[in-house]
Amino acid sequence: MSMVSHLHQLFNADTCQSYIHTLRWKDRPLQCPRCHSHNVGPWGTYHYQPGLKRYRCKEKACKRTFNDLTGTLLDSSKRSLIHWILATFLLCLSCSSRRIARELGVHVRTSYRWCWWLRNAALSYEIGRQLDGTVEADDLYHTAGHKGQAKQGGAKSLGRKPRGRRKKREPGRGHYDKDRPAIIAWISRQGGVVVQATRDFTVKTVQKAADLAVQVGSRLYTDSASSYRALQGYLHAYVNHTKKEYARGEVHENRAECLFSLLKPYLRVFRGISKTNLPGYVGFFQFLRNFHQLTAFEQAEMIVYAALDPAIASRARQGDFVQCLDHFNLLQTARN
Ligand SMILES: [Zn+2]
Repeated sequence: MSMVSHLHQLFNADTCQSYIHTLRWKDRPLQCPRCHSHNVGPWGTYHYQPGLKRYRCKEKACKRTFNDLTGTLLDSSKRSLIHWILATFLLCLSCSSRRIARELGVHVRTSYRWCWWLRNAALSYEIGRQLDGTVEADDLYHTAGHKGQAKQGGAKSLGRKPRGRRKKREPGRGHYDKDRPAIIAWISRQGGVVVQATRDFTVKTVQKAADLAVQVGSRLYTDSASSYRALQGYLHAYVNHTKKEYARGEVHENRAECLFSLLKPYLRVFRGISKTNLPGYVGFFQFLRNFHQLTAFEQAEMIVYAALDPAIASRARQGDFVQCLDHFNLLQTARN
């Protein structure tokens, strides 16, 4: 039995509706989503959705009706608000979309789509985040292949030999083309993290990643990798792991390594990730870490608040925010 059937006695549709209503118009003026006029008035309710308030635009040229959900991510969903609120909550507890589908009793594809939309809505808080102060950096390679179904449905041709279980991976450093892209984490000692999925770990890519994530002139502590040593524009110091040096006074990158010890189990939950989807997952992890002082439900409330903004909702549906994260082609080379 799904979680919702256990909880529906406790959750009241009216209470959910008024919660969403408060969140929808909190700090936002009541206005028509189409012509943006503030000249609107109440216009009854719906039989099939008790508690959902309807309004009518009084502008002569418009005269159309709308409700609390018009234009938001939750608009015209067949599922109740309880489903949406719980899905967001479970997403913040880092559940996989399959787990959410089972708990809520919705189809896997429904929950997969919701997860992507909601992750995108969360990313709206992370676009353009830049760190300053003292920043630690570290990198790791994560196996990410071509998970997912073929566009036409059915089994997808891999275009390579299956990796197979316990098979040794290709030698050398990871690379996007070897299904092993790099992940770079930047963590400020003053608070804030940025986690980026990049195609490789060359000097050029790392410089580009640093320019996006860290303010010029900041203090930067890393390990002795040559790509970090070539960085320009920062006050750089490094520890030499090959000489068993892990901390020299305040120069160390233990926070960045600690962040990876949280990222790895987070990614493991999904049982393999497609390399094209990696920025979305990593970006959502960044959101969770940047608001880690909040409880999962407070984080979920932030996401629902963003999802109730029509401007964010339409961008989230199109996956705009994930593309923004990879705006400078950190992960994929420019397609020409
Ligand atoms: Zn209007």
